[in-house]
This record gives sequence, C-alpha cells and structure tokens, in this order.
Amino acid sequence: MKGTVLLKKQLLKMREELLEGMDASIKTARSTPERDVGDFYDDVDIEKDRQMMHMLTEREQAKLKSIDDALEKIEDETYGACEECGEDIGKKRLKVIPFARYCIRCQSELEKRLASNRESAEENLIYKSVSLNDIESSDE
Ligand SMILES: [Zn+2]
Repeated sequence: MKGTVLLKKQLLKMREELLEGMDASIKTARSTPERDVGDFYDDVDIEKDRQMMHMLTEREQAKLKSIDDALEKIEDETYGACEECGEDIGKKRLKVIPFARYCIRCQSELEKRLASNRESAEENLIYKSVSLNDIESSDE
C-alpha cells in the first residue's frame, strides 16, 4: 500500500511521544512481559513499552490502543476503513487523526449516542478526548 511507511513512522512517533511523558517514572518500574507485539515495533524499545503500559492513564491507554490498532490495520491492509460502516474514513481526517477508527459521520453518531448514555460516560470521555485532543495537537 502506497505511503504506509511514512504513515507507520508517523504513528510510531505519536506512540513514542505518548510514552515519552512516562519516562521519568518508568525508570523504577518493573518488567512485566505479557504483551503480544507484532513486527512493526522495530524502532522502539519493546521492553520499555511493556513497563510503560502499566503507567499510562486509561485515556492514554485508549489512545495507545488506537495507535496500535492502526498499525495492525496497516499490516492487514484494512487501514482507512471505518470500523462502523466500512466506508473510507477519508484522507483529510486520517491526516489529522492517523489512528481514527471511524469516519466523521460514525464518530459524531457514536459521540452523540455515548453522550446521551450516562452508563458509558467513561467511554465517552475516552472517545471525546482522543478525537478532540488530537485535532488540536497532531496537525503540524
Ligand atoms: Zn463510518
């Protein structure tokens, strides 16, 4: 698939940046090998990652998961399709949020649904913070 090398780099960079904030506290953390990793982590220190996974907040973990999933989808060549409706997410949206799971339509539907469902308040927070935060910070 065209352009995936660059895309992977971008995702891995976002991933590293996310984990970077944890650097200080990680030095005292113990190794807990349990994560199954693919072959796309060539550039990162896997052992360090494993430790960091346990230091991240839920929101950070959700974002990290989205990034990991996006990397997997690139491997599977399913990247760019909405998980909800299967339509193309759209280049513009993916440029802003390379790890977007849903097209803009499904995302707003999802947020609406979650917003009206207080049972899912926590999940709502995760989706909202991922989508909003990254429109702000990742478009350089
Ligand atoms: Zn969709």
